Amino acid sequence: MKHYECFVPGCSWQTHAEEEAEVVRRASEHMRKAHEETTIRPNMVEQIKTHIREADNASS
Ligand SMILES: [Zn+2]
Repeated sequence: MKHYECFVPGCSWQTHAEEEAEVVRRASEHMRKAHEETTIRPNMVEQIKTHIREADNASS
């Protein structure tokens, strides 16, 4: 399970998903709706990925 918290200062939005790709998809949708980002650029996807954490215990 992956956990993601929005990296925009002052925004406390967060999500969980099984797959990193799903987290990125949800985060991209959030960026469009909440932060009026009409274009999701590749570097934004990279930025999202750097903020994804494992929600389960540390063993993998
Ligand atoms: Zn946000």
